[in-house]
This record gives sequence, structure tokens and C-alpha cells, in this order.
Amino acid sequence: MAEYIWLDGSKPTAQLRSKTKVLDAPVGRIEDVPEWGFDGSSTQQAEGRFSDCLLKPMHLVLDPIRGEDNILVMCEVLNPDGTVHPSNNRAHLREVSKEYAFQDPWFGIEQEYTLFKNDRPAGWPVDGFPAPQGDYYCGVGVDAVTARPLVEAHMKACLNAGLKFAGINAEVMLGQWEFQIGPLPPLQMADELWLARWLLLRLGEDFGYTISLSPKPIKGDWNGAGAHTNFSTKQMRDPGGMQAIDEACKVLSLNHDKHITVYGAGNGERLTGRHETCAIDQFRYGVSDRGASIRIPMATANSRCGYLEDRRPAANADPYQVCAALLKTVCGRW
Ligand code: ADP
Ligand code: MN
Ligand code: MN
Ligand code: MN
Repeated sequence: MAEYIWLDGSKPTAQLRSKTKVLDAPVGRIEDVPEWGFDGSSTQQAEGRFSDCLLKPMHLVLDPIRGEDNILVMCEVLNPDGTVHPSNNRAHLREVSKEYAFQDPWFGIEQEYTLFKNDRPAGWPVDGFPAPQGDYYCGVGVDAVTARPLVEAHMKACLNAGLKFAGINAEVMLGQWEFQIGPLPPLQMADELWLARWLLLRLGEDFGYTISLSPKPIKGDWNGAGAHTNFSTKQMRDPGGMQAIDEACKVLSLNHDKHITVYGAGNGERLTGRHETCAIDQFRYGVSDRGASIRIPMATANSRCGYLEDRRPAANADPYQVCAALLKTVCGRW
């Protein structure tokens, strides 16, 4: 069984779709996974009268849920004539990452998300609110965290699929968690993040949770959900890389608005200047500063080389677009 996974044409935020093809024999190389198609009129990717879209397999991993020889296949959507479909942001990152591969860029994304049950965040009382934020982040025990069985099952599934899964933690708001993917080259990281999101949604079915990537699932004095994007080039990682990191922050400051347009819909509700964010209309960078747009981690500042953390992307941002924007600005001096 090959699960073909792709992104639909929903606006402003594309959603995951997938369907299963039973192959005659197990397949281990992406070149051997057949192309396929789907009805684009049901995914906001075509009009009803000429609705076929093409699925081009791009990246396969083992399917940790079905096990054995079964696979998950991340696909690009093409038009029937083989040209790139307008909804296909991966194709753009493919081009951009080829152009800047010589700078050896690495990315790691921290994916925050919120679990819901019966239209309430997991663990929240049916009426009213749980205790204010303070004890939930990295908490342990039934009063501090919820839904750990799903979170653990998801981590194991990602590892069994062979993803470069870096870790998990319970977040500041009850019902919110984080996992990280990376560091990896841009296309690889973005594919793996989408596959990890798919696995989370899929396991949410079994455990009975809705997965929300909303940047601000609960209004008020509750943390939003982001997709902090950690980024480095070889120059930044090598001794003395701090100079390249400083230069990157300066060119990022000149391109703030362009980045915000691809950092997720509804991000303005999250980037308020409170709850460990910098306001959406401001740009600041600083060492260890969790209220900045770009944070330079302490270890990077101490060793004068390493990576930077772009704290602006929202939980619902498309990693294909986020990585392309960072590559164009930092590697290409956009
Ligand atoms: P935070 O302290 O912000 O919560 P995390 O530990 O959650 O940080 O995530 C940091 C992520 O940075 C790691 O998961 C990893 O993927 C990524 N990372 C580490 N080193 C690099 C690097 N040199 N370049 C890019 N990303 C990196
Ligand atoms: Mn983190
Ligand atoms: Mn976090
Ligand atoms: Mn972070």
C-alpha cells in the first residue's frame, strides 16, 4: 500500500490530502512509484469540467502505521500537461534550494500544535478555563499535561518512518505540544515536516483528537502556536560564523514584510508583542531574546558560530514557503 500525500488548493492555508494505491509489488525507490491522478475539482485545484490533476511522487518513507513494506509518498501536484500547478509551492523550493545548495543550508522547525476534543483544547474543563499558564510547559503529571499517549505514539511513528525527528515538549498552554524536525537541507526538512504533520493528523483519528495548527487557537492570555524556524549556512556554522549571522539578521530586517506574507494566515493574532513574540509590525533580533523576531541562541553567541532562530512563522505556515523565503533573503540577498 502506498499512501500518496499532497497539498490541496485551500486558501489561505493548504490542507493535507491523501489516498491509497495498492501496488503489485513492494517499491523502495521513488523512481519506481507510479505517477497518479486525482479529482482537482474536489480539492480546489481545478474546475469541474476539466478536473484531472497529476500526482508526481517525490519522496518516500516507510509507513509506520501500516508497517511491513508499505510506504508514504510525498507528492507534487502538476497540471495534466506536466507543468507545475499554481498550488505547488514545493516546486519553487526545489528550484531555490538548488540555486543555493553550495552554501549548504540547514533547517530545523519546531512545530507547535493544539489538540482539541469536543471543541475544547485537550484537558480543558467543559465550561470555563483551566488554571492560568505557568505549570504546563514541560510539565509532568495529570494536572500539567494531557494526551501524552498520542504525542508518544506520534514520535515513535516518525522515528519508525525514518524522519529526522529531534524531540518533543509540552507547551505553555494546556493542550498544546511541540515536536521538532531537523536539522536537514531545506527540501528534505520541509517534506519531513509535512509527513510528520500527516502522521499527527492520522494518529489523531485513532486517539480521537482534532489537530489544530491555528496560530492563536484561544484568544486572550494564552500562548499562540508557532513554527520557529532554525536556519544556518556552512559559513554560519564554521568558526567565526557570527559575522554571517549578523549580516543575515540585517538583510532579514529589510525584508520583514515579504516574509510575513508567507509565514502563515492569521499570524497577526499571535504576533502581538506578548506571549514570547515580537509584534508583527516590528523587527528585532537579539541573543537569547524570546521577545525578538530573530533569536540568536545562547550557545551560538558563546561559540561565535551556529544558527539563528526565526520566531515569526506561525504553526500553520507552509515550510516550503518559509524555507524558500529565508534562502532568497539570506543566501540570495533578496
Ligand atoms: P528552542 O530552544 O527554541 O525551544 P528546540 O530545541 O525546540 O529550540 O529546537 C531547535 C532546533 O534547531 C532543533 O530541533 C534542530 O532541528 C535545529 N537546529 C539545530 N542546529 C541547527 C543548525 N545548525 N542549523 C539549523 N537548525 C538547527
Ligand atoms: Mn522548542
Ligand atoms: Mn515552543
Ligand atoms: Mn524556539
